[in-house]
Amino acid sequence: MSLLELRGESAGYNGKSILRDVSLKIEPGERIAFVGESGAGKSTLLRLLYGRLGNTAALMPQDSALVQSLSVFHNVYMGRLHQCSVWRNLRNLLFPAATDIEEVRKVLTPLRLEEKLFSNVGQLSGGQYQRTALARALYHPGRVIVADEPVSSVDEHQASEILSTMNCEKETVLLAMHDRALALEFANRIIGIRDGGIVMDTPSAGMTPEDLDELYLAGGMITA
Ligand code: ADP
Repeated sequence: MSLLELRGESAGYNGKSILRDVSLKIEPGERIAFVGESGAGKSTLLRLLYGRLGNTAALMPQDSALVQSLSVFHNVYMGRLHQCSVWRNLRNLLFPAATDIEEVRKVLTPLRLEEKLFSNVGQLSGGQYQRTALARALYHPGRVIVADEPVSSVDEHQASEILSTMNCEKETVLLAMHDRALALEFANRIIGIRDGGIVMDTPSAGMTPEDLDELYLAGGMITA
């Protein structure tokens, strides 16, 4: 059974249509990179997909949306807020439970963030910040991750590390990416977006970054 299917869907803001007539089927286990120039509609499409998946998916939004004044522990713990009682969440804000600390620590250790457990997120480097956002998404129990430009502020080595961790830890990965080489390396399906529509939908195997150049040129449907 498909994980998700869109049939001729539209989406936009304030009555203005951005995505038009988008049809798309996603199977469990796929690793899809949505690529296209800035403003093409990738984030809008990811929002639509995340809206359909709801709490079965973990989200890494473009700005990471971490709470600067809270610790790494608290930000990562938010990945499971929806699963716990209000009382437990409030108590953990002030007096984190040992079991929850251990659970969060298990996610932080392979991401080399263990020492930052109780550091404020506002004090982290760009790479640590983006890895904390990943830790929060990994802490979320969903088997799907929806990530909007998850490696935009890290170097190539950390980008590879983040993307391969995502691929190992989550069953289905939906990414918006502007780095074409990384998109081809870490996704097995490439969906090209232009002017709010899907203009390319192809396996990544055998493609080169140059094959995606067409996405950034004016024109019609691309046959890859
Ligand atoms: P991409 O992720 O490919 O850069 P977006 O989906 O962010 O593209 O944006 C597609 C279009 O929707 C752009 O014209 C952008 O200005 C517009 N847009 C994005 N977010 C909003 C919003 N919250 N309100 C109004 N317009 C928006």
